[in-house]
Amino acid sequence: MTVCICGFGPAAAAQQPDLDPRIETLVAAVSGVRLAAILQKLESFGTRNTLSSTDSPTRGIGAARQWILDEMKGYSAKLEVSFDTYKVARQGRITRDVEVRNVMAVLPGRSARRVYVSGHYDTIAIEGGQSSSNAGGGPTRVAQPADPEVPNDLPAPGVNDDGSGTALTMELARIFGQSGIDFDATLVFMCHVAEEQGLFGAHLHAQKAAADRVRIDAVFNNDIVGNDQGGNGIVDGATIRVYSEGPEDSPSRELARYVQRWAARYVPSHRVRLLGRPDRFNRGGDHTAYNQLGFPAVGFRESRENFARQHDPRDTFDGLSIPYLTQNARVNVAAAASIALAPQPPIVTTPAGPTISRGPSGYDANLKWTPSAGAVAYRVFWREAWGPDWQHELLVGNVAGIVLPGLQIDDYVFGVAAVDAEGHESVVAPYLSPPRAPVAVKTLP
Ligand SMILES: [Zn+2]
Repeated sequence: MTVCICGFGPAAAAQQPDLDPRIETLVAAVSGVRLAAILQKLESFGTRNTLSSTDSPTRGIGAARQWILDEMKGYSAKLEVSFDTYKVARQGRITRDVEVRNVMAVLPGRSARRVYVSGHYDTIAIEGGQSSSNAGGGPTRVAQPADPEVPNDLPAPGVNDDGSGTALTMELARIFGQSGIDFDATLVFMCHVAEEQGLFGAHLHAQKAAADRVRIDAVFNNDIVGNDQGGNGIVDGATIRVYSEGPEDSPSRELARYVQRWAARYVPSHRVRLLGRPDRFNRGGDHTAYNQLGFPAVGFRESRENFARQHDPRDTFDGLSIPYLTQNARVNVAAAASIALAPQPPIVTTPAGPTISRGPSGYDANLKWTPSAGAVAYRVFWREAWGPDWQHELLVGNVAGIVLPGLQIDDYVFGVAAVDAEGHESVVAPYLSPPRAPVAVKTLP
């Protein structure tokens, strides 16, 4: 069934769902005390370098990963906690063959589609820290023993990079695991390893997921999210940056818009600043490993960085703001819970192309979609085809299409999200022109 909306206006566009009290409870459950305790424990391992000791019960990555595993196991019997293990050969910054282990906690949902909340628990120290790296702009030397076979147990506390993302991920595992909520999506709380050697833990896991045809709807990568005091003296504890790769309506951009939209409602005291690039200039993070395989993935980064305390023994607990990290965790809770409770987005592209046309007048926006299971309504979005943010929205009933008379599809981008009976809204599915293949024109000699 298709409906014709005539005379839609601001009143309809302003219609919004009520907040879900269960998500409000989850947001309120983030504990700064727990985040601080996790960070101090992570700091106590001295280093979590991927090439550090694995046989010490107190120092190095072996002790750290075992503690993370045991801790998450203790949160809830509903969490399936395991090592995700690979053997990596010597290459680049991996100076000897090494076994690496991501630590993951899975909260099974009603469906197999997955939503990831992640950080990386490994650390690194480079000579002079990130400051000298920034100043020189060239390759930097890792602080490491001369003999590559000797475990690298030099200090690399990594409390912010990326103890902060690890603590956030663990705290969300606890909150979601203990919630008793039956989520539609399967949630994965992932502590990646070997990020500092080239995103190896993330690459290996993402490649396995792609090979196993796992559906991943979202990856939230939190890396350096615990400090709000820039090394240049500027303080900003009220915003968090979210990076996403383009183009404008890529799956990662739609995910980024979703994070901003839903965080603004559940955590109005914190602002999500969207940045239309894959990551900070010439820097990277684990979400890129997922992007490269086509998965929607975005990177959360603190508002202002202190480069002098990154990749450096000075990356210690006293450099973090627990209230700021708590706010960033709340943003992740709001977005992850919303997307995991929402129906799947409607399908707006068939093998024949996007299901949008100019009918019936030839000058209208005629949108059709394949309904989503569990949806009772749909929200249609549009914006002028020059600009990043949706400008208009319209809630329609349980229909499979809509005609917006006189709205030229040449001038606007359209998308539609599925909404369930409790108001949970999916990520927006955009109508996109298919790419055009290059033309081989036959020429004569
Ligand atoms: Zn990092």
